[in-house]
Amino acid sequence: AGAPNAKPIQVKLVLLGEAAVGKSSLVLRFVNNEFQENKEPTIGAAFLTQRCKLEDKIIKFEIWDTAGQERFHSLAPMYYRNAQAAIVAYDVTKAASLEKAMNWVEELKRQANRDMVIALVGNKLDLVSASHGGDEAVRKVPVAQARAYADEHGLLFFEASAKTGDNVLEVFTDIAGKIPLDH
Ligand code: GDP
Repeated sequence: AGAPNAKPIQVKLVLLGEAAVGKSSLVLRFVNNEFQENKEPTIGAAFLTQRCKLEDKIIKFEIWDTAGQERFHSLAPMYYRNAQAAIVAYDVTKAASLEKAMNWVEELKRQANRDMVIALVGNKLDLVSASHGGDEAVRKVPVAQARAYADEHGLLFFEASAKTGDNVLEVFTDIAGKIPLDH
């Protein structure tokens, strides 16, 4: 076990994706374990931190939640340039949001750190999951399609729900597990 006062390992993480796919909600679930049905949109970007434990290490996530609106696109490089990790989110009920996510992945591959850990996250899984009162018929992004894209580009991949909390912690802990932690 690590020393009790071991210094937390900082991980800078940026969230990217089309407006309203649930980026802020994923962060709110991870940081406060809560969900708001009618969230105010993020303007520009919001900064939050959250600690979590990974084996005997303490990880301190420094999270930049960016606005999805196109008019803020030009600000994004400021947030991803120094980031070690990115969550690129889409909405499993909106096909166009996956295309937008793919555009972000390609931008990150061109412009961000080469060893950046990128997770593709299909949010709002509750809407298509029968066990949460959802309906598979409203799904617009087949899981196999998104997974194949993620595999092809070396991304972590999850479907998750900020609403129910399904898979949200897993997204962050799997990312932490992939970051080179030798600093
Ligand atoms: P952002 O613009 O990507 O940050 O999206 P928000 O977090 O503001 O969420 C947009 C809307 O989708 C809000 O009304 C949320 O309550 C809703 N939402 C977010 N995540 C989920 C989810 O997992 N399931 C459902 N059903 N709605 C969600």
